Amino acid sequence: MTDPQVIVGLEVHCQLNTESKLFCGCSTDYRNDGPNTHVCPVCLGLPGSMPVLNKKAIGYAMRVAKAISCEVLPESEFSRKNYFYPDLDKAYQITQYDKPLAQGGYLEIEGDEGGGKRVRITRIHVEEDPGRLVHMGNAERGKYSLVDYNRAGIPLIEIVSEPDMRSPKEARKFLNKLRATLEYLGVFDSEKEGSLRVDANISIVGSERVEVKNITSYKGVEKALTFEVTRQKNILRRGLAVDRETRHFLEARGITQSARSKEQEHDYRYFPEPDLRPLHVQSWVAGITLPELPDARRERFIAQYGCSLNHARTLTGELRLANFYENVVSPDPGGLANSAATWIADTLIGELNYRGMSLDTVHAKDFTALVRLITKGTITDKSGVEVLRVMLDQRMGGGAHETPAAIISRLNLAKTAGDDGALAAVISEVIKENSKAVEDYRNGKNGALNFLVGQAMKKTRGRSDPGELNRMIIRMLGDREA
Ligand code: ZN
Ligand code: MN
Repeated sequence: MTDPQVIVGLEVHCQLNTESKLFCGCSTDYRNDGPNTHVCPVCLGLPGSMPVLNKKAIGYAMRVAKAISCEVLPESEFSRKNYFYPDLDKAYQITQYDKPLAQGGYLEIEGDEGGGKRVRITRIHVEEDPGRLVHMGNAERGKYSLVDYNRAGIPLIEIVSEPDMRSPKEARKFLNKLRATLEYLGVFDSEKEGSLRVDANISIVGSERVEVKNITSYKGVEKALTFEVTRQKNILRRGLAVDRETRHFLEARGITQSARSKEQEHDYRYFPEPDLRPLHVQSWVAGITLPELPDARRERFIAQYGCSLNHARTLTGELRLANFYENVVSPDPGGLANSAATWIADTLIGELNYRGMSLDTVHAKDFTALVRLITKGTITDKSGVEVLRVMLDQRMGGGAHETPAAIISRLNLAKTAGDDGALAAVISEVIKENSKAVEDYRNGKNGALNFLVGQAMKKTRGRSDPGELNRMIIRMLGDREA
C-alpha cells in the first residue's frame, strides 16, 4: 500500500551490454575467465595511458534517454571523481557530474493506487565501473582481500529518479519497469551477474534521509526498503530522531547496517576529465528509432491475442517472457493464445521460480505441444501441471528429456474417456462403496456430491476431468428429492 509518509528515490546503476569496455578495447565478456585477464594499461590506470570513449556505449545510453523521455543535453562532460579505495586502480572514477548526458524524463509504473503513475527521472549519466574486491573470510575480519580488475572500466549507466515513490513496492515496480525497458532496448541483460546495483534513498516525511548503498538484486531493494520503513518509524515512535547516514544492506540477513561515515560530495574533488573532450551528441537523438517498448507490447497483446490486462502485464514485464509467449502461440494464435497466456503466467513462472530456473531452458516447441494436449482435452489440467513439472525437472537435470506426449504415455496420464465403460465402472464402484454419501446426496446435500467426485478422482489418479465426473455421477444417481 502507498504510505504518504514514505519517500523513496532510487539511483540505479545498470551495465550497458557492449562488447568492449568504456574507455579501452578490453572485452566485457569476462565471467568465464580468471581474475585480471581482461585488463590493459587504460583500465589498469597505468601512467601515461589515455582513455578512448566507446561510441556504442554512448549510443546505448542515448536510446535509454529517448525511451524515458529525457532531454539529451547539447553539451555533456566527463569528470573525475577522486577517492581512494583498493578496487579503484586510478584513485579516481571517470563519471559525469555537473554536465550529465541527459536530464528530465519519466518512467510510468502501475501505482499502488492502481492506474498509471509517473516517476520522474532526474538525470542519466555514463560512468565506468571500478574493479571488484574478493574478501577472503569476511570483509571486517578476513586475513586479506584480492582484487580483480576485469570489471574495471565496464560501462555503466546511472539513472537517478526523483523521490516520487511512496512504498517499497512502488520502488520494486519502478525497477522492474526500468529493467524491462532497458532489455527491450537491447542495451542491458538482467541475467548477467553484477549487471544491476541500486542505491536507495528513503525517509519518513519531516525526517532525515537515509541512503542504503549497493543493493544488488530486485527483491533486495524491496526488502531493504521495507526494513528501513519499519526501523525509521520505530525510532520516530520512540520520540527519537533518524540520523542522516549511509547504510549497507546485508542481503542474507535482510537487514541494513550503519556504514562508517561516508565522504561528502565535496570530498570527491570532482573536476573535468582532461583526457576526454566534451560530448556534443544531441543531434544523434533524432536518428534513434526505438523498438516496441513494454507498454506498447502490453496493449498489443491485449488487442491481438485477447490477453487479460493482468496476463498482458505479466507477459510483457520481461522481454524473454514476451518473446517466449509469442513463440509458443505462433503456430496457432487463434487456438493457443488464451490457454498459453494462462499456463505461462499462472503456472510456468511459479514452477520456474521454485526451481530457480531461467526461462531460456524451456523449449517453446515442447511447451506449445503441452498446451495443445491440455486444450484438446487429452489430459486434465491437473495432469498438465504434472507433465510440466517432469519437463522442467528433466531440463534442470540437463540429461535426456522427453516430449510431453512421451511423458503422458510413460506415466499413463491420458484422460479416461468419459463414455467408455472404464469411467462408468469406477463411478459404480464409488457409489457402491459410499452408500452414506449417496444417501446424503439424494437428501439434497451438495457436499456429498463433491465427496463422490473426489473419490472417483482418487481412483483415476487425477486422469479424469472433475466436471465430467460430476455430470456422470449426477446422471448415474438419477433424480433426487429437491
Ligand atoms: Zn582495458
Ligand atoms: Mn555512480
